[in-house]
Amino acid sequence: MLTNLKTILEYAETRKCAIGSFNTPNLEGVQAVLRAAEELNEPVIISHAQVHEDMGLCKMEEIAPIMLFMAERAAVPVCVHLDHGTDINYIKRGIELGFTSVMYDGSGVDMALNIINTSLIVDEAHRNNVSVEAEVGSMGKSEGGQTVGESIYTDCDTALDFVNKTNVDALACAFGTAHGVYLKKPKLDIERVKDIKNAIKIPIVMHGGSGISEQDYYNAINAGVRKINYYTYMSKAAGDAVNAMKDRSFFHDIVNEAKRAITEDVKKAMNIFSKPQK
Ligand SMILES: [Zn+2]
Repeated sequence: MLTNLKTILEYAETRKCAIGSFNTPNLEGVQAVLRAAEELNEPVIISHAQVHEDMGLCKMEEIAPIMLFMAERAAVPVCVHLDHGTDINYIKRGIELGFTSVMYDGSGVDMALNIINTSLIVDEAHRNNVSVEAEVGSMGKSEGGQTVGESIYTDCDTALDFVNKTNVDALACAFGTAHGVYLKKPKLDIERVKDIKNAIKIPIVMHGGSGISEQDYYNAINAGVRKINYYTYMSKAAGDAVNAMKDRSFFHDIVNEAKRAITEDVKKAMNIFSKPQK
């Protein structure tokens, strides 16, 4: 069943766990992730990022109807999220298409403009029962993994001021994770997450959430992270599985093997996110 981000994260807050948000830039990705969620009977977030268009994967107008069609028919709660929108008109189109959650990524503009743009989107989104995630600080890399600037850790007072002025539903914070493949072991600033969570009270989102240790996941969730964006290592699991195939003669066999590997990898991640330990 289709739900928005606010509702799905209230569930996470009650259970003190996190919900995985998985990029699904094609039909097979949507099928594989929803299958994992249904097999584990867990809520899930599927997402499309604006950068997928630049990567030539799919257009929002093409994938949104598929995501929404599958989400509505799923046996578990599914939020259909638009990730890292940097363009207000693009996000507005996403709201019109039926996304139940949108993220405005204002990490590339100054704070005053981030507040103005986020507030505009919150007004439009909330009128349509759509949730909004925004970002304070910067992960230093875009969703595609390219370096686009330095990483700036989220400052607690700035985050509180931002949340009070914009009324967002969830906040992406930078505290040591990065998009893409990790070249060295990340060191997470968990105390920072705790301080921000105590101040802002709303759910914290961790980007660059694939490829960190199980203990780091537990620490982040126990500190207040309620949404974990997970993609790179799930995509890599599919690539590794295809590389290990003896016979790659047919595209449909490759697709099925990739889907199987994605479902397995997503289930592993969901098992960690949904049952956090000390
Ligand atoms: Zn991200």
